[in-house]
Amino acid sequence: RAAALAEKEPPFIRVEGVTKRFGSFTAVSSVNLEIRKGEIFSLLGGSGCGKTTLLRMLAGFEDPTEGRIFIDGQDMTDLPPYERPVNMMFQSYALFPHMTVEKNVAYGLKHMDMTASQRADRVREMLALVQLSDFSHRKPHQISGGQRQRVALARALAKQPKLLLLDEPLAALDKKLREATQFELMDIQDKTGTTFIVVTHDQEEAMTLSSRLAVMDKGRIMQTGTATEVYEYPNSKLVAGFIGSINFFEATIRDVRDDVATVDAPELGATVEARAIPGLSPGQPITLAIRPEKLTISRSKPEGPNAISGKVRDLAYFGKDSLYRIELPSGRVLSINSVNSRRVGENERVADWEDAVWLSFDPSSAILLKD
Ligand code: ATP
Repeated sequence: RAAALAEKEPPFIRVEGVTKRFGSFTAVSSVNLEIRKGEIFSLLGGSGCGKTTLLRMLAGFEDPTEGRIFIDGQDMTDLPPYERPVNMMFQSYALFPHMTVEKNVAYGLKHMDMTASQRADRVREMLALVQLSDFSHRKPHQISGGQRQRVALARALAKQPKLLLLDEPLAALDKKLREATQFELMDIQDKTGTTFIVVTHDQEEAMTLSSRLAVMDKGRIMQTGTATEVYEYPNSKLVAGFIGSINFFEATIRDVRDDVATVDAPELGATVEARAIPGLSPGQPITLAIRPEKLTISRSKPEGPNAISGKVRDLAYFGKDSLYRIELPSGRVLSINSVNSRRVGENERVADWEDAVWLSFDPSSAILLKD
């Protein structure tokens, strides 16, 4: 992918110490960000965390209170939107209902210095790109929601911006269509090589689409990385809890050896091993975090350091997996999704109601968090 090729180049977008205050309220706080050419980069966070405000500053619709924004090596901070090599696709799509698909896409070229035939060629090219060539004469109400989304994308890309900003691009689509459209969006991005910055509150969408993502909270960037980095190596309770589900336990560091820490976890009723992080010392209180899918359920006591006993409280069969609610001796109840057997006919489940079971996990999958 283009983003991988651009890894060694200077960053295409650099956001330096950007803060945005509305009166006394800080919507975006000291944000630093580097994005490479050809990336699909997501700004991920809950409602009100400042992601749209950051996007609008990149587009030039808002001025930063502090800090600077560079695109392709040029300081854009004081330039108006129309002088930036940037376009934005809005969540509502903002298509003109009385215009055909073709005219809507051509509208994106309104202020461009082009001949009529160049313009027509570009519109044709864009409609082919989003696979809507056969729909050029329809009006927005005569096409589906997914097709409307693609018209909006074609219009936004028609000017050939170096950077396309997409605010919740898939939010108006239902779940199935959204999943299919994610891959279309990635294909289109790949074909054009345009850098995309996507705002979303949907963590699965951000993980599917993005080469890298930034998790935001209260105007700050909490962590930046690939989907795998942010999921497997979260740097805070907030990020760990925002991306995927996770169980948190209060624990205390007992000992640290190389990359493994031994921790006392009273709620687990055990002393267990976890992946060490820098700066741990014996006696230090810590949060131990384990994702549900990293736990294995078994009937007999497993080998290895991290074996915890429990009892099946509740059980729900979902076909591909079963949800177990396991009660530990401390009274703590854990939810675990366990993949069902590939063989059908015997007992597909590992355990039944009231069964005494063992839970185990690999030390490398147990996350320690200081805050
Ligand atoms: P959502 O997903 O709900 O759109 P968001 O992360 O995109 O949330 P922003 O729209 O960036 O959030 O808003 C961040 C904060 O800044 C919110 O608390 C919002 O009320 C506030 N805010 C945004 N624009 C303005 C404005 N023009 N004047 C005052 N406050 C604003």
